[in-house]
Amino acid sequence: MSTIFSRIVAGELPADIVYQDDLVTCFRDINPVAPTHILVIPNREIATVNDFQDGDEHLAGHMVLVAQRIAREEGIADSGYRLIINCNRDGGQEVMHVHLHLVGGRRMGPMVLRE
Ligand code: AMP
Repeated sequence: MSTIFSRIVAGELPADIVYQDDLVTCFRDINPVAPTHILVIPNREIATVNDFQDGDEHLAGHMVLVAQRIAREEGIADSGYRLIINCNRDGGQEVMHVHLHLVGGRRMGPMVLRE
């Protein structure tokens, strides 16, 4: 079963794609929480960060380097931004296709809400 994100990678669902290569696809979040909110996802369907395996080092590092490049292009590299990967229930993951959130363009506030 394909995730909605796999369908975006395949071009079957519309998305505002800002960058794509043979490893990753990056598109604007449909419900942005900040002026810049872009998702960096592996083209290969990997459910959660728990499912990265030995051999995925290049892919995982590439996701960060691509996010860094997009942050520069978005003009937020110097003002700052946050990279977030949510995992499973307690991490608040909703889409079971691992994704790196790149959020910035405003002050992000505390990293995690205190209970
Ligand atoms: P997470 O809670 O970490 O799983 O984040 C899932 C993110 O995917 C949320 O920020 C959603 O707004 C975003 N999202 C869900 N569907 C789409 C879509 N079709 N296009 C772009 N972003 C989406």
